[in-house]
Amino acid sequence: MANETESRNFIQQIIDRDLAEGHCTTVCTRFPPEPNGYLHIGHAKSILLNYGLAEEYGGKFNLRFDDTNPTKEKVEFVESIKADVQWLGADWEDRLFFASDYFDQMYEAAVKLIKKGKAYVSDLSGEQIREYRGTLTEAGREDPGSKRSIEENLKLFGEMKDGIYKDGEKVLRAKIDMASPNMNMRDPVIYRVAHMEHHNTKDKWCIYPMYDFAHPIEDAIEGVTHSICTLEFEDHRPLYDWVVREVEYENPPKQIEFAKLYLTNVVTGKRYIKRLVEEGIVDGWDDPRLVSIAALRRRGFTPESIRRFVELCGISKSNSSVDYAMLEYCIREDLKLKRARVMAVLDPVKLIIDNYPEGEKEELTVVNNMENESLGSHTVTFERELYIDREDFMEVPPKKYFRMFPGNEVRLMQAYFVTCNSFVKDESGKVTEIHCTYDPASRGGVSPDGRKVKGTIHWVGASTARKAEVRLYENIVNEELGVYNEDGSLNLNPNSLTVLKDCYVEPYAANAEAYDSFQFVRQGYFCVDAKDSTKEYPVFNRIVSLKSSYRLPDNR
Ligand code: ATP
Ligand code: MG
Repeated sequence: MANETESRNFIQQIIDRDLAEGHCTTVCTRFPPEPNGYLHIGHAKSILLNYGLAEEYGGKFNLRFDDTNPTKEKVEFVESIKADVQWLGADWEDRLFFASDYFDQMYEAAVKLIKKGKAYVSDLSGEQIREYRGTLTEAGREDPGSKRSIEENLKLFGEMKDGIYKDGEKVLRAKIDMASPNMNMRDPVIYRVAHMEHHNTKDKWCIYPMYDFAHPIEDAIEGVTHSICTLEFEDHRPLYDWVVREVEYENPPKQIEFAKLYLTNVVTGKRYIKRLVEEGIVDGWDDPRLVSIAALRRRGFTPESIRRFVELCGISKSNSSVDYAMLEYCIREDLKLKRARVMAVLDPVKLIIDNYPEGEKEELTVVNNMENESLGSHTVTFERELYIDREDFMEVPPKKYFRMFPGNEVRLMQAYFVTCNSFVKDESGKVTEIHCTYDPASRGGVSPDGRKVKGTIHWVGASTARKAEVRLYENIVNEELGVYNEDGSLNLNPNSLTVLKDCYVEPYAANAEAYDSFQFVRQGYFCVDAKDSTKEYPVFNRIVSLKSSYRLPDNR
């Protein structure tokens, strides 16, 4: 319950007051997705906000599919949304609802309004309704339908329901105020004729309620106390209140608006994500470059990191964008103590230790996470031939290059000191082999006599390491050029995906399961791709690199 000492966001303050003043005795919130696409990071904010409030106040959280619009909805989306909400940890228990199950009650509510003289059937076309509505400076005109008797309205509305009329031929309008300064109150349409099959109710209905009418009724039926939505619905609140008042619900829900979450350098709008998917620019709704929840999961983000991110974003009344780097900060912080560190070579070149006995191998024990002993250890196999990363060798080193070059001694991480003697190039001048000798007395990478080496490089055993694909990502759009062009197209970053097909990773990581993740020494955090990875040829997505110049804003 409310804790006076911590700072309360404006929504908590409203709820605290409603409870204190007896406007409600319990709290019930809901997340009401329209099943017309996959959820994204913005929805995660709404889910965690609503779920978090229900938890905090010992109340209830409903997952409700707002499936009143039969055109765009798909069963595929219902399943993906459930999976995403569950993954985020927002447990709806047995409180899963479908707005389409309330069509009977919505119809009854409309009849009630007609009987109270608060709704009428209109013959105007969509275009005429717009025309009659007036402008911000000019009042609207009376709809001739508004003069109809209650009896006639009841008869016509019944006929609408019975399928007598074609799409668009008649609508039901709420009778409110054609001169209201709020355009939403100028006799809004509340029911339309649409001869369309609905995925749940099939062909039972040929009239469907409009969002502004349906939503408050859904909330009221479920006993929602605080209906939290985004800022663009602020001007709709008077209509929300009108509906719950005129339909005479005993404990009417209250609508509260907050600002949407926007992220820099990413595409959040469902509409845009859909286009990227449909145009084949990305590999489905879960392409790791997207910020749909499915994509974040596939990329290797954890629910904890997203919860932390949403917490850091806070709740606000004004729209603003959050730096994508903050999301990266959250996943880095979350994985830091939880994941094992392993060696992976992304751009391999062979290293041969000339004085190491041929055919021999040895197991070296490495600690999984230096900062968290409880993660234990695993072994790596050291042998005569290894792979190291190409960038860890230079024929002619620049100043301050401490890694491998002819004549230099370096540490092979957790293994031995080695000194580079020679190298081999192919006709094109590419280095194909590096030769060195090792000091058997430096086992474990520990100096035998106090002599120091400045460079430590990672490696994998050539015969034991597993070949793998590694995918590196950049932002999918180029924000500096503007995410959206004037013609509505997106400014795509041509380098958003780099695929490395000849990488080598330790068997310890290569044997992992989908969604497992690791820190690859120096390269970042990587996650086993759930779609394309196989036992024979693992595929890793880079979740995030290790370092960033990002600092949390002072006020967090
Ligand atoms: P989009 O704008 O991406 O198409 P939407 O608002 O149409 O999303 P809905 O399924 O209608 O998607 O939204 C379900 C809930 O999620 C609504 O309560 C909505 O206010 C909330 N929501 C949608 N986008 C965001 C966002 N960027 N930040 C916070 N909440 C959001
Ligand atoms: Mg919507």
